[in-house]
Amino acid sequence: MGFDVHQLEEGRDFFLGGIKLPATKGATGYSDADVLIHAICDALLGAANLGDIGLHYSNTDPRWSGMDSKYFLKDVTRMLLEHGWKIENVDCTLCLEAPKINPHIPEMKKVLAPLMNIEEADISIKATTSEKLGYVGREEGVNAYAVALIKKE
Ligand code: MG
Repeated sequence: MGFDVHQLEEGRDFFLGGIKLPATKGATGYSDADVLIHAICDALLGAANLGDIGLHYSNTDPRWSGMDSKYFLKDVTRMLLEHGWKIENVDCTLCLEAPKINPHIPEMKKVLAPLMNIEEADISIKATTSEKLGYVGREEGVNAYAVALIKKE
C-alpha cells in the first residue's frame, strides 16, 4: 500500500494521474508533485519489498527536480519486472476538494496503464472529498492512497 501528500498552491500546474488537470491550484513538490503516481509507486515498491519512492528518487538529487512522475512509475515497473514480479491491478483513492476528478479518470487510466504494462481495466481510481475538514478540506493539500496486487512470475 502507498500513501502520499502534497501541498496545493495557487497558480501552480496540477499534475495528477499523469495528466495536467484544469485547476486554479496545483500541487507543490520536488518533482512534478503527482501525488497519485507517487502513491502508486510506493504501493508497488512496498508490495515487492523494494523500499520506497524516496529511497530510489531522493528529493535531494537534482536529477529528479521537476521530473515528470510518469518516469518514476515506468522505472518502478521495470524494477519489479527485474525482480520477477508482474503487476496484477492497482486500486487508488484520491482525497481533494477541487476540481472534480471523475471526468478525468478515463484519461488517467489511459496514461497510467502502459507505464505499468497492465490494462486500463486493471486500474481503479476513486475520488472523495474531505467534507471541508482538515488540510484537504481547506484546500491546502491533496492526498492519495493506493493498493497494488503483484504476482511472482
Ligand atoms: Mg510525493
